[in-house]
Amino acid sequence: MKYKIAIDGPSGAGKSAIARELADRLGYEYIDTGALYRTIAYIALERGIGDAVESVLEACDQEEIDYRNGGVLLNGKPLGDAIRTEAISQKTSELSKHPEVRDYLLHLQRRLAEGGGIVMEGRDIGTVILPGAEVKFFLTASEEERARRRWLQRKEQGEAVDLETIKEDIHRRDIRDKTREVAPLRQAEDAIVIDSTDLTEEDVLDAMVAQVEKTYVL
Ligand code: C5P
Repeated sequence: MKYKIAIDGPSGAGKSAIARELADRLGYEYIDTGALYRTIAYIALERGIGDAVESVLEACDQEEIDYRNGGVLLNGKPLGDAIRTEAISQKTSELSKHPEVRDYLLHLQRRLAEGGGIVMEGRDIGTVILPGAEVKFFLTASEEERARRRWLQRKEQGEAVDLETIKEDIHRRDIRDKTREVAPLRQAEDAIVIDSTDLTEEDVLDAMVAQVEKTYVL
C-alpha cells in the first residue's frame, strides 16, 4: 500500500529538503504546497493586484496552475525560483490567511494526493488537507537555528543578506502563520514531532524512514 505522508512545520525547519529526500527514498512523489500558495502571490504581484483577494483569485482562474515532478507549472511552464523571493514570501503569508485562498487550493491539494504514494509538505496538511494521512510529522527547530539555516542558504546562493533581517522575517511569518484564524500552523494530535535543532538532515530522514517502516508493519 502506498501511503500519504504529511509533513508540517514552521518556515525554515528544513521541511522542503527533507520532504523531497524522504519521497526519493520511498519512491514517492514530493508535493510542496508552499509553492502553490507562492504561485498565487506571484500572479498577484505580476498583475499588480493589491490585497483584493477576490480579484487575485479571479486572476488565478485565468491561468492554469498545475503541479508536476516536484514543482509548479504555470500555463505549462515550470515556475522555478521565481517564486522564492522575499517579496513573494511576505505576500504569500498575507494571502494565505484568507479562507477563500485556502479553499481555492484545498481541492487541488487533495487531488494531487489521490491514490497515495506522496509526501506532502505544508502547514495544515495533517490537520486540514489530509487528516487521514497514514503518517504525519511535525518538523520544527528553534527560531534562531531556522534563521541561521535560511541565512546560510541565501549566502550560498550568492545573496548578500543580513542574519538579523532574516530572523525578523522568520519571526514575523511565524506569528502570522500561527495566529491566523483559518488553518493556523499547529501540529495534528497524531503527528510525530521532530525537533531538528540539533539533528542533521540524515538523522531526521533516518527517524522518518524508521517511522514509516514501523507503520507498514502495523
Ligand atoms: O513553505 P513555504 O515557506 O514555501 O510557504 C510560504 C508561505 O505559504 C508560508 O509562510 C505560509 O504562509 C503559506 N503556506 C500555508 N499553507 C501551506 C503552505 C504554505 O499557509 N500548506
